[in-house]
Amino acid sequence: MNNVTLIVKDTTLVTMDRDLSILEGHALAVRDSRIVALGPSADILAAYASPVVLDGRDRFVFPGFINTHTHLFQNALKGLGRDLRLFDWLDNSVRKALHEIRSVDVYNAAVAGCLENIRSGVTTVLDYMYAHASESGLDDAVVRAFERTGIRGILGRAHTKTDGFPEPARCPINETEDMFYADVDRLRAELNGHETVSLALAPGIVWDMDPDGYRRLRRYADQHGLRITMHLDETPEDDSFTRAHYGINTAELLDQTGVLGEDFIGAHLVHLDSTTLEIFGRRKIKCSHNPVSNLLLASGVAPVPTLKRMGLDVGLGTDGAASNDTQNMLEVIKLAAIVHKGFHQDPTILNAVDVLKMATIEGARVVGREDDLGSLEVGKLADFFLFDPRTIACVPVTDPITCLVYSSNPTSVQTVVIHGRIVLQDGVFCSTDETEAVYALQESAYHLRQRVGLGNTINGRPVAVGPFTRRA
Ligand SMILES: [Zn+2]
Repeated sequence: MNNVTLIVKDTTLVTMDRDLSILEGHALAVRDSRIVALGPSADILAAYASPVVLDGRDRFVFPGFINTHTHLFQNALKGLGRDLRLFDWLDNSVRKALHEIRSVDVYNAAVAGCLENIRSGVTTVLDYMYAHASESGLDDAVVRAFERTGIRGILGRAHTKTDGFPEPARCPINETEDMFYADVDRLRAELNGHETVSLALAPGIVWDMDPDGYRRLRRYADQHGLRITMHLDETPEDDSFTRAHYGINTAELLDQTGVLGEDFIGAHLVHLDSTTLEIFGRRKIKCSHNPVSNLLLASGVAPVPTLKRMGLDVGLGTDGAASNDTQNMLEVIKLAAIVHKGFHQDPTILNAVDVLKMATIEGARVVGREDDLGSLEVGKLADFFLFDPRTIACVPVTDPITCLVYSSNPTSVQTVVIHGRIVLQDGVFCSTDETEAVYALQESAYHLRQRVGLGNTINGRPVAVGPFTRRA
């Protein structure tokens, strides 16, 4: 008998392996952080002993989703992007809030954001934490939230020059390049060898950086093996700016600075001309598709079928809750599966399996972790969730993938395992008090809005829901 630390028995494994195998009546054995065996349930139970055995009857096990683009601090700003264009939204909500947001607000927002991600099946999140802010240490608050909730986190450490911002959006900290690299050095040292948290570089958009800044960033990324992620061609303004300032479009500028490559993750990629597509194809960049955010901010519909035809890897992202307004990956999955059908008037253009791949194995390739994540295979890290289809939303169930993509909601995400640890069991978080997280964020976000004078109006009247009443 081999000793292991966790077994899920009598279940259906939706492996997302090379053959897209769906294995009924199977079991999966985990030792510490990794999957050590998959097989018919009776065989696994005969060969392995574990102190923890989860019954997977009538449930499906999916690999955990990879959320390839979000901003967890924006969970404090949920609801404020309502019905605004991107630049009004940016100047009037996000950038203003960054004047006043404190580490405690970022922590409360990021904890809630991680919990919401986990509840919708996400086990890895790539967080782009904005740089321009009121105080230092906000990145550390995101790392603490990763650790507290148990989610696998990639911290995108941002760098933005804010002296070019319009006055109301300018922030107290205008981080110089040297300050940025000193802090990235510190974070690299602190996260070195961390089991579940890693680092990426997150440069600002083209009007927030200059070409030499991108060149230096590429040199640093190469030297330390870090991925680069940035917002790219979300709106036509990227290309309008670079054409006006450099006489070329954004992709040409980034290509000339050497910043594009297989380790580069572009978020959004909505407005792409033929020159841009040619450069992306040649550089084999990785893509993050954020359909809820793109529709909410009226940015448009990204040419995902084209990017995929070119052989590029496309993952899915929720984007921040200020432009979503949730972290519900199941909603992103369904929208990704239907928006391109409607846009192209072709129901075959992106099918349910394509989209589930984007959320899992393709997402793993986007973040450069396909050897460890994205499918249920022996040797990979144990990041997966048990999906319970016995709900009114799912029934009647025909097959696991159709059910998950088109009929599900977070209620079906029953138990979530990350790095071999159970972080959500039968709908209850193991290491985090969810009720406390709800109260803490409502309170913290309310006071943040009051400090910066942000809020919504309905029929011309301001509406501000205050902190919830705590029971004694
Ligand atoms: Zn974003």
